[in-house]
Amino acid sequence: MKMSAESFEYAVVGGGIQGLSAAYELAKIGRSVVLLEERYLGSGSTGRGFGGIRTLHGDESYVRVAVKSMSMWRKLSQELRYNLMLRKAGYLFLLYTREEEERMEENIKMARRYGVKARFIDPSELNTPYLDLSEVAAVVEHPEALVALPFSVVWGYWRGISRLGGAVKTWEKVVDIEVDGGFKLKTTRGAYRADVVIIAAGSGSIELLKKLGVELPLAVVKKEAVVTESLKPFLKPLIVTPKIAVVQSARGEVLADYYAEDIPTTPEDLSATHYMASFVAKYLIKLIPKLALVNVIRQWAGHYVSTPDLKPAIGDVGENLWVSVGWRSGGFMMGPAVGKLLAESAVRGKLLSELESFSPYRFKR
Ligand SMILES: Cc1cc2nc3c(=O)[nH]c(=O)nc-3n(C[C@H](O)[C@H](O)[C@H](O)COP(=O)(O)OP(=O)(O)OC[C@H]3O[C@@H](n4cnc5c(N)ncnc54)[C@H](O)[C@@H]3O)c2cc1C
Repeated sequence: MKMSAESFEYAVVGGGIQGLSAAYELAKIGRSVVLLEERYLGSGSTGRGFGGIRTLHGDESYVRVAVKSMSMWRKLSQELRYNLMLRKAGYLFLLYTREEEERMEENIKMARRYGVKARFIDPSELNTPYLDLSEVAAVVEHPEALVALPFSVVWGYWRGISRLGGAVKTWEKVVDIEVDGGFKLKTTRGAYRADVVIIAAGSGSIELLKKLGVELPLAVVKKEAVVTESLKPFLKPLIVTPKIAVVQSARGEVLADYYAEDIPTTPEDLSATHYMASFVAKYLIKLIPKLALVNVIRQWAGHYVSTPDLKPAIGDVGENLWVSVGWRSGGFMMGPAVGKLLAESAVRGKLLSELESFSPYRFKR
């Protein structure tokens, strides 16, 4: 028996923050929308990230969207009626060379034009006796930065979409998308029709776009995290060094991560390796020596999806076909604003100016 396909105006592929925020914004303006997720919500990089949210970036177009996202984050728990476990942790950037300092000076100067708060501070001002700063040349404090619990955000958006009448289907992989006067999406459990499709499937986007004949220069990079035993809260800021990023979770675990640009991987490869665990642990102990006495209890891997200019590709790639792909760091923190701007762009049929510098067409020139 042939199953009839449910019809929606919009189909969003991918239940990470990019897909969830776009689907939520569409439902919020009364559009009929279905979100299709291969596994569970947040099972991609979103649930494997650290939840850091900052506005200080090196790229001006990034800063503009990050500032918009930050103002949305501040109201998001209330809007979604869900506790996103947001805390004003702040970021500390530890710099080790003069070149890093100079680059950061430029970034801060540019970001300040958008109201971003960040400044160089004397390491002696820091109340962080647990940090070994002996080789650090300079420290930058970014006090307005937040840390959220990624899964709370995922569940908050899911609740929001459902409350607004949108459909969220999990354990349903999109295996094919046909273009026939609209789109027909075949999944592992059925089929859906949609007038407009948004692909936000993280590393899974590569295969889907290939099937649609869309060529985008996307490459997968593995990012691995280690997690320690729980310690009483001692590490307030999220710390970024050129080697690793470190944060203490709400459960007290210390999380540290690094990405290996040069180790080949595939969209299916989510294996955590001993090599990376030792690498991260070495730098973690150098930074916080007392952690030498603490065990790593688990580790995981996630993906960065990379483009040649290291910026995401957001926009249309064909008639009524939109993407938010190619996210490295920042895919989480930029989620609320990008979802809103992308949803509005898809409804208007034209990419909003705030997203223009992320347009996938830049790779066609
Ligand atoms: C260790 C680590 C730490 C990080 N820390 C931070 C941080 O502090 N701050 C920050 O902003 N960013 C951080 N990031 C980056 C951030 O997690 C990502 O940029 C962001 O989550 C990307 O979101 P996404 O929705 O594009 O992709 P994903 O979260 O990967 O979501 C894509 C979803 O699509 C689904 N999917 C794939 N193929 C299909 C298909 N065919 N059909 C249906 N569904 C499909 C997947 O199952 C997945 O759930 C970190 C990443 C890692 C790995």
